[in-house]
Parts: sequence; C-alpha cells; structure tokens
Amino acid sequence: MGFKARDRASRKSSDDEQASSSSKEGQEPCGVNGCEGWSDASMGGRSISVNDAEDMWGKGFTVRKNRVRVCKSCYRSWKKSNKQDDQHYG
Ligand SMILES: [Zn+2]
Repeated sequence: MGFKARDRASRKSSDDEQASSSSKEGQEPCGVNGCEGWSDASMGGRSISVNDAEDMWGKGFTVRKNRVRVCKSCYRSWKKSNKQDDQHYG
C-alpha cells in the first residue's frame, strides 16, 4: 500500500522564457517633446518646475502635476544652462 507520487516527466516545452530586453525601460517617459529618455528616479530622472522648463524648452514639454519630469540628460543640459550650482568663480 501507499501512494507513490508520480513524478511527471517535464515534457512541456518552456516557451515561456522571455528574451530579456537589452535596452533599459523605465516607467516614466521624459516630459520633453522628442526625447526618448526615461525620467524614472532609478534612472537618474528628475522633476523640475514648469517655469524652469519653459526657460529651457519653451512649450515643448509635458506638465504633470505642476512639475516637468525629465530624464537624466535633459536635466543635465537644463542645469548646465541654469548654473544653479554653488560654484564660486575666482
Ligand atoms: Zn529627456
């Protein structure tokens, strides 16, 4: 007597294996029109005020909750032109 757990032969083809995408994808697209970056915080994205964005891109961006979410490179280029660093010259 006794039940013998019958081990099922694993015959099912594992088609489930998804090809891991090499390109990183985020959740939040960059708010700047034409930019294909990601504004996720995990990917270096930041959010700046609408006024700041207007100075940089005019009206070419998307506003979300009174903020403009930008990707890392957009933020860097914006910061570059705004020189908000505490750098002192001379
Ligand atoms: Zn961007």
